Amino acid sequence: MKRVLVSGGAGFIGSHVTVELIEAGYDVLVADDMSNCDLTCYEGVKKITGRDDLPFVKMSFCDMEATDKLFSEWKIDAVIHFAAFKAVGESVSDPLKYYGNNLQSFINVLEAAKAHGCRNVLFSSSATVYGEPEELPVTEKSPRQPSTSPYGNTKQICEDILRDSVAAYPQIRGIALRYFNPIGAHPSALIGELPRGVPNNLVPFITQTAIGRRECLSIFGDDYPTPDGTCQRDYIDIVDLARAHVCAVARMLDEKMEQEYEIFNVGTGRPLSVMELVNAFQKVNNLKLNYKIAPRRPGDVTAIWADPTLANEKLGWKATRTTEETLASAWAWEKHLAGK
Ligand code: UDP
Repeated sequence: MKRVLVSGGAGFIGSHVTVELIEAGYDVLVADDMSNCDLTCYEGVKKITGRDDLPFVKMSFCDMEATDKLFSEWKIDAVIHFAAFKAVGESVSDPLKYYGNNLQSFINVLEAAKAHGCRNVLFSSSATVYGEPEELPVTEKSPRQPSTSPYGNTKQICEDILRDSVAAYPQIRGIALRYFNPIGAHPSALIGELPRGVPNNLVPFITQTAIGRRECLSIFGDDYPTPDGTCQRDYIDIVDLARAHVCAVARMLDEKMEQEYEIFNVGTGRPLSVMELVNAFQKVNNLKLNYKIAPRRPGDVTAIWADPTLANEKLGWKATRTTEETLASAWAWEKHLAGK
């Protein structure tokens, strides 16, 4: 059986990916420094998959010695690298924390993969690299735009580090997946997003408002040049997103890559506005949300959604869950957290 290392595997995306990898028949090794999560999702993964023996190593990939030790103690066929900080605002106020952690950990993973014969590296990138796109939907050929935050910049730089490393070292090859807006939770409601403090992202803020942890959702701007004036995004279900990783890992391990470095958009191809999402959430969960229109949030792009054709064709992957299913799963997870 092939083994996949999931760095940051106790987090939101990493835990969902771990479940899908196990269900697809891979051995998974989870590693996480627990700097931005607790054991909730790791325990949830074990419950969902029935793998009480799921190996877990608490470590930071910024520690080269620990990274090297991990790769020498385990035979790793592919690594999916999630371990990174992700709060856009914090990256602006503390850029060195972001550059230090996000770049060093990835460099160490690449060094260790190269040294220990792990050919296959999957990097978790973001649609943030497209900035405010001139043409919609965005394809992988759409130009990257200068980043508006150190966080976004680390995604661009890590993509470049992977591209250049693959070009220079025949020992490794790589795929970067550019995620649009991952939302929702596993249908079991045993794993999901666990924001620390006040959520920055829309859906956790909505579910926390609905459960009464927040008073009121602020919709940031209703005067954008979009059909209803609120921003448009491509919200991708977390389980669909996780499955894209399984397809990408299989593409690498089954020797299906056409180039040594490949990039894929992971989105639905459907734009949804903030207002449409709020309305869909209220309708599918049969509740009323307290919300108000607030000023625009600095740094937000007006509209972005994916052209996922390349992933559909080359990865054999497609988003399958409806917005309603996804928003119902997000609400089920919030209720699970609240013990309801
Ligand atoms: N948003 C909002 N209120 C919030 C959080 C987000 O209106 O409390 C909007 C935000 O302006 C953007 C969309 O929801 O248009 C998605 O924001 P999020 O932070 O989830 O993801 P982003 O696209 O910024 O990465």
